[in-house]
Amino acid sequence: MLKILQIPVLTDNYIYLIHDLNSKQTAAIDPAVAEPVLNELEKQGWELSYVFNTHHHGDHVGGNLALKEKTGCKIVAAKSDQHRIPGVDITMQDGDSFQLGEHRITIIETAGHTTGHVVYHFPEDNLLFCGDTLFVMGCGRLFEGTAQQMWQSLQKLKHLPEQTKVYCAHEYSLNNGRFALTVEPDNQALQSRMAQIKQLREKNLATVPSTIAEELATNPFFREDSLSIQKNLNMAGKTAVEIFTALRKLKDNF
Ligand code: ZN
Ligand code: FE
Repeated sequence: MLKILQIPVLTDNYIYLIHDLNSKQTAAIDPAVAEPVLNELEKQGWELSYVFNTHHHGDHVGGNLALKEKTGCKIVAAKSDQHRIPGVDITMQDGDSFQLGEHRITIIETAGHTTGHVVYHFPEDNLLFCGDTLFVMGCGRLFEGTAQQMWQSLQKLKHLPEQTKVYCAHEYSLNNGRFALTVEPDNQALQSRMAQIKQLREKNLATVPSTIAEELATNPFFREDSLSIQKNLNMAGKTAVEIFTALRKLKDNF
């Protein structure tokens, strides 16, 4: 059994703590800051075994060294990014596996937001910790990679089982949904999801996690095949990568 805690930090980041009840191992995903993680560990009576980083940005690795110093945890990150992630102990490449107790985690490389971005997938538990690659109704900005790379990365996530829970690193849903409605205003699943998300945000509640199924139904970056999106972009007959590229550009300027 895994227990997952979501810690909101900074403006809109989420840090996740994953605790395996059997082995008592605990992992923190993308600790932007250390203090709230240490507080939560103490509150729960958990010891930190690992930090998993998805990419090198400060709002994902800022707490690495303090956590390592205070807890002795090991830091897991992409091999290709080990030179720019603080305190890395264990490096991973696409397809590598890792264990948290009896729970298997596989690493999927998802270049795009950064060139070395990776996500952590628990295939038997149907959990995905995807950092800044996939968001609720959105995807990460292209800071280092190309649109082609990001599209390819999103294809890998799009084909995970639909019940997979999607734990992204930011609460961007409201703004992402507003953009999604401009390119696919007649999508009813999107309309009702936005109504839900507005209610949650009015109460300052998290809209994360979502599921792959929800993203398939509402996330424009998973929906290049939507005739409505193609028509609204004046891109009927264009390739999925061309449509994705156009969507990403529009969102950059939204
Ligand atoms: Zn980032
Ligand atoms: Fe971020």
